[in-house]
Amino acid sequence: MVSLSLLGSTGSIGLQTLDVVRAEPGAWDVVALGAGRSIGHLVAQAQEFHPRLVVVGDPERVHEVQEALPGAAVASGPSALSEAAAMGEVAVNGVVGFAGLPVTLAALEAGRRLALANKESLIAAGPVVQQARLTPGAELLPVDSEHCAVHQCLRAGDVFTARAAMERVHRIVLTASGGPFRGRRRSELAEVTVEDALAHPTWSMGPKITVDSSTLMNKGLEVIEAHELFGLGYDRIEVVVHPQSVVHSMVEYSDGATIAQLSLPDMRMCIGYALAYPDRIATPFGRIDWAELRRLDFEPPDAEAFPCLDLAYTAGRMGETAPALLNAANEVAVQAFLDERIRWTAIPEILEAVLTDHDNTTADSLEAVMEVDGKARAAAAHVVRRFDRE
Ligand code: MG
Repeated sequence: MVSLSLLGSTGSIGLQTLDVVRAEPGAWDVVALGAGRSIGHLVAQAQEFHPRLVVVGDPERVHEVQEALPGAAVASGPSALSEAAAMGEVAVNGVVGFAGLPVTLAALEAGRRLALANKESLIAAGPVVQQARLTPGAELLPVDSEHCAVHQCLRAGDVFTARAAMERVHRIVLTASGGPFRGRRRSELAEVTVEDALAHPTWSMGPKITVDSSTLMNKGLEVIEAHELFGLGYDRIEVVVHPQSVVHSMVEYSDGATIAQLSLPDMRMCIGYALAYPDRIATPFGRIDWAELRRLDFEPPDAEAFPCLDLAYTAGRMGETAPALLNAANEVAVQAFLDERIRWTAIPEILEAVLTDHDNTTADSLEAVMEVDGKARAAAAHVVRRFDRE
């Protein structure tokens, strides 16, 4: 059995990870669980999986959780989170947003395999995470479906074993479902509601990432994520809209051959891939019915209606702390939208204002990234007020 730490256990990725663990009995031993909220749910998970360590977000709830779980150590705070992340041979980071950064760093610095669903930590702290990836034994497996697909396509091209084969990669093509507003013009998007934005056509995910999918910021962040994961320049990472979400991404090689990865849209396949690599899990979470599928459509993204995608390319090319700034400002803007304080169309406007004002600094330490993150949140909160609905 491989020991497993799961942080963000009550969120969408956490629940689906436990589905994979349940489906493959005897494969993984859950040694640590952590969740920020949903304490009742966390306790129920711990009663089912018997971890040695349980981490809760709110220090005031430690006592109550400890009483419910006499067999486990219960703790709170950053050091407990890091301890939990380093405890298993594999750590699944399913924490939402920038808060997931300590988990990413702790798992890699302990030389563990990190199954990364928290793309924000890699995007905001790219240079710092790259350093942590050099730790002997450290391994980063993407859980994000597009990057999981790219990983499989690169494997198919023997890129991980053949020397210098990355030069044979001409481009990565990330697919985007287009989200719930695909096909709408900019002028038709001013009045969309939170409920509209949360109605994702193909994927079941948490609210933050679902709003990011509706703005295409999720795809923009994934472009930066692909750059950080696979080391390819931004000119060689492209996005194509593919509404069926069956082709999860593609790699085109120097000879014009394209390898694509196809499967039904279900995050549990990606989680299982990251956990079992280089093996594969035995459980299919759905199989493609080719007779039923009939067609696969592709179209270019609409940069005018969805300006977040280009903003992410801009921040990515700026590098250093610009992606951290964009990510932080986006978290603030998305929350303001979810709180119904601003219109959906204000999200890119806020990001553009914050990015334009940014004095790019080097992202050479965790402190530097944290500082930019804090400043960007304050700047974005300030700009949000200009867009407050009456
Ligand atoms: Mg994705």
